[in-house]
Amino acid sequence: MVWHQATWDGTHWRDEAACRDVDPRLFFPVGSGPEALDQLDGAKAVCADCPVAQECLIFAVTTNQEYGVWGGLDEEERREVRRQWRRASRRSAQSVSAR
Ligand code: SF4
Repeated sequence: MVWHQATWDGTHWRDEAACRDVDPRLFFPVGSGPEALDQLDGAKAVCADCPVAQECLIFAVTTNQEYGVWGGLDEEERREVRRQWRRASRRSAQSVSAR
């Protein structure tokens, strides 16, 4: 994946989103009970067929979207990806400043 800082102005990828006609509530389950877990699976199934899942994930990670399913990942999965992205960003910034 090629990371870049996404912005709210550059969300044209949403036009091709597989979730465009899906109730957004599916992607924001409440709680952690069986119903919420079913919802989570349903959301991830939609994302699995999404042609812009990578753009969605980059947007969510780099604009710090804390809640819901984005790019096929739930909140906890995305937090780990965000940690990795921030570490990589810091390393990149340090290598540029050392030049
Ligand atoms: S990856 Fe999932 S949440 Fe993101 S645009 Fe596609 S279907 Fe919607």
